[in-house]
Amino acid sequence: MSGLDELYKEVILDHYRSPRNRGKLEPSDFDLHRDNPLCGDEVHLYGHIEDGKLVGVAFEGKGCSISQASTSMMTERVKGVNLDNAEELAHLFKRLMQGESLADDERLGDLAALQGVQKYPVRIKCALLGWNTLLEGLKAYKEKHEG
Ligand code: ZN
Repeated sequence: MSGLDELYKEVILDHYRSPRNRGKLEPSDFDLHRDNPLCGDEVHLYGHIEDGKLVGVAFEGKGCSISQASTSMMTERVKGVNLDNAEELAHLFKRLMQGESLADDERLGDLAALQGVQKYPVRIKCALLGWNTLLEGLKAYKEKHEG
């Protein structure tokens, strides 16, 4: 069980116990519910976009600490950020989960705490659930507004 210590670092537990930006968001420009059946995780993500910026983001969800903490950390990082930068951060986080050694990349900040998840392939889907939902929401928004 010793490897799990690394998974449940304090920062992860803090976000799990006190999720940031939790709740519904109205009005919203995207509103998506996604799950990870392998683990039973669920995330419902809301985003509000103005002038190319994600001015509001909120989520509801349930599931393991990794899925909920990762989503909470994501909302904290992408709120108020322009869409391209939010997408760039999501792709950077995916690279971290895919096993790249990026802990020293300062763009990750607190997200580096999730690096330990790399070693638990079954948990990677948990960590990516909120981020993939975000990318899907942003893509749908762009298609609707640029099409
Ligand atoms: Zn999970």
